[in-house]
Amino acid sequence: MTYLFHRSLNNTPPAIVGGLGINLWDSAGNTYIDASGGAAVSCLGHGHPAVIAAIKKQVDEIAYAHTGFFTSEPAEKLAANLVQSAPNGLNHVLLVSGGSEAVEAAIKMARQYYIEKGYPQRYNIIARKQSYHGNTLGALATGGNIPRRENFLPLLIQTHHIDPCFYFRYSYDQEDEACYAERAARSLENKILELGPETVMAFVAETVVGATSGAVPAVLDYFKKIREICDRYGILLILDEVMCGMGRTGYQWAFEAEGIQPDICTIAKGLGGGYQPIGAVIATDEIYDAMKLGSGSFQHGHTYMAHPTAAAAALAVQETIQRENLLSAVKERGDYFAQMLRNSLEDLDCVGDIRGRGLLWGVELVQNKKDGNRPFSPSVNLATKLKKTAFKNGLIIYPNSGTINGRDGDHILLAPPFIISHNEIDNVIAILKNSIKETMMDID
Ligand code: PLP
Repeated sequence: MTYLFHRSLNNTPPAIVGGLGINLWDSAGNTYIDASGGAAVSCLGHGHPAVIAAIKKQVDEIAYAHTGFFTSEPAEKLAANLVQSAPNGLNHVLLVSGGSEAVEAAIKMARQYYIEKGYPQRYNIIARKQSYHGNTLGALATGGNIPRRENFLPLLIQTHHIDPCFYFRYSYDQEDEACYAERAARSLENKILELGPETVMAFVAETVVGATSGAVPAVLDYFKKIREICDRYGILLILDEVMCGMGRTGYQWAFEAEGIQPDICTIAKGLGGGYQPIGAVIATDEIYDAMKLGSGSFQHGHTYMAHPTAAAAALAVQETIQRENLLSAVKERGDYFAQMLRNSLEDLDCVGDIRGRGLLWGVELVQNKKDGNRPFSPSVNLATKLKKTAFKNGLIIYPNSGTINGRDGDHILLAPPFIISHNEIDNVIAILKNSIKETMMDID
């Protein structure tokens, strides 16, 4: 008997009791390799002594105080740490409790910015079909994930979704990446013109798409074109780096690899590495000053924003990444991970595409890569089956499926902790390959 809502209401998952490094174990003594860091959360792995010590120290001092009355040293230091790692102009940090809260706050910040600037008619949000921005109503409305939105459609604010930037699935035959980048970006301009530029507030996109299509970076220059279009029509660019930010791609901010910068960026998962629930929004001087010099406050707040314990944990996570030079480790281990994935899975006809950046990788499963990369029918539920087989074999991977027209294929996401060693990578890939073979034999 369980009183808790679990993800599946028909079975209770094993109880987790311990973890160290990239390994976890449950109350029955089963061990698991956490090859997806949960959902791309655990960047430092489990049981990191510096983070645990920082949490304990903070709780000994003060666990919580309301931000209507107080600030705290860890929250101030964390904001400063994030600003120091961000490009010029992104100088203002709002701390919240997770990714969806960060996206909600980013959207409201964009709206308030335009009100303060005297453009109240700007309220339209444009996002992409292949995207996930969270599960609260505003964030869910912004994301383009059809299965997650379906039941709640009557409750969602109206948003507008353009084509994704997903070369493997949506480029035409013989279309090179440059032409594809042009076409994918043009769909933003077309939508802006259709809605009327004076009504559009923001374009929201994941810099590297995570939960809906398995680690899809944009093609070269796509985001430069997007930035130009946003600037041309005075529209804010909100990049959602809840999954791909904070070093996961080998860059502190995933947008650094694109050669552009957003007006607002959301982060969460790797910010606190799972040690505490925390998310953040970072915004430019332009946005902050419009509010500061205008109404004087941001009309938004949550009971747990800038929570001192969560901030202390996140600060310790970020300082550890900086002290141990883990961004370079992500680049180096990410290259090895990619090379081993490609070498090992190359001979499997059901692996259509392997893509990603840093330590965020996606593997797309198809019926036969030699025969058009057709996806499996949704009724096969392949990604979930593979997740279950891998879990039985002691490997944690994150399954997901596409979103355009409901569902466009099965992918799995790999996002191991930054501390993973080459031997551990070899082991992850060996278990993954066996699990793929086992799953394919089961569905044949
Ligand atoms: N945005 C992106 C890009 C995400 O990947 C997620 C979660 O997977 C969210 C927002 C929502 O974050 P949370 O689950 O912390 O609310």
